[in-house]
Amino acid sequence: MICCSRAGRCFSVSRSEDFGLYVHIPFCKNRCSYCDFVSFTDFSHLDKYFECLCRELVMWSKSLNKPVVDTVYIGGGTPSDVPIEYLHRLFVVIEKSFNLTNPEITIEVNPKAMQFNEFRILGVNRLSIGLQAADDEVLKTVNRRHTFLDFQRTFDEACCYFENINIDFILGLPKETDKTLENDLRVIENYKPKHVSVYILETDSEKNRNLRIDEDLTAMHHEIFTSELQKMGYVRYEISNFSLPAYRCRHNVKYWNNENYIGVGASAGGHIGLKRYVNSSNLLEYFHQIEQGENPFEYFSENTPYEELRETLFMGLRLCEGVELEKLEKLKPGIDFRTLVEKFPTELILEHGRLRLSKKGMDFSHTLLSEIMHESVLSGATGGE
Ligand code: SF4
Repeated sequence: MICCSRAGRCFSVSRSEDFGLYVHIPFCKNRCSYCDFVSFTDFSHLDKYFECLCRELVMWSKSLNKPVVDTVYIGGGTPSDVPIEYLHRLFVVIEKSFNLTNPEITIEVNPKAMQFNEFRILGVNRLSIGLQAADDEVLKTVNRRHTFLDFQRTFDEACCYFENINIDFILGLPKETDKTLENDLRVIENYKPKHVSVYILETDSEKNRNLRIDEDLTAMHHEIFTSELQKMGYVRYEISNFSLPAYRCRHNVKYWNNENYIGVGASAGGHIGLKRYVNSSNLLEYFHQIEQGENPFEYFSENTPYEELRETLFMGLRLCEGVELEKLEKLKPGIDFRTLVEKFPTELILEHGRLRLSKKGMDFSHTLLSEIMHESVLSGATGGE
């Protein structure tokens, strides 16, 4: 075990643990109207931001004794909107700070991006392209700045450099129709990306309160979309994620398995052993803390094993394969998960030593997961330590 203290907080992990690394780049050339992420269109802090990112990476390298990192995810924001020199500087520090071992390295890109040769040189081996919809009218309604033609050019170019490509879609956008859904599906059929993520527009956030979603139509579209994907050979491995065999996103699977990952950058979060943190989303606060040599935490907590179990279950039920009971048992023995299945007999399945959601459970996961967490067997009534 190593136990390193920084600002009075000790991060202890086994030496053999692999980490994921998430780097948040909170800059976008324009704002999509539904966006709820921390991102800024003012690029004037770019120099300072990358300097602080690099310092934060070095801090984590020292704290965790240059740990093994086997997945890196550069997300945002729109990392491809940042001049490539900044990403070069960032990757030099990542390589020096961590023991990169057969890493999956993903970068999120806008469908106008074209720097694929440079990304390849940096070591990136997976792209995630935010198409969201294959129809220009739909894209315009939410202020996406790319067209479908941009995506076509980008995808063709990207394929010269990358094999492992994800395309993101959002269902429930204004002006979405049966026809636009059909177009989305034809894109997948024609371009055959290795991975597809499909989300439903969130309308309960502050930002999206004015966006109206036709819930019945969206549910029907989601059903069609997911079943057509499966007919095309994609395997659903998480509520919103589908891949061709062997192309799951290794980084995101770490989140759902509640494994260790370090998050750097404003608003990024991490999970190390039983500790969880979220960095400040205020840029000036983030800069200030880093300059003081402190972790820029806005939130920090240490789970009890029981809380860790709840988190592990909550995240793990998102995966189609669910959670291994033995893993939960190790965190807190003695919980009878059969009583949970009796409460949700059509939504939960307990078999082969794993607890997972049924198809119906997946369809209603948005509300179901929090209902499950409120069940007395998990809500502390059994004496949560
Ligand atoms: S590209 Fe992504 S992060 Fe940037 S404004 Fe749009 S939704 Fe938000």
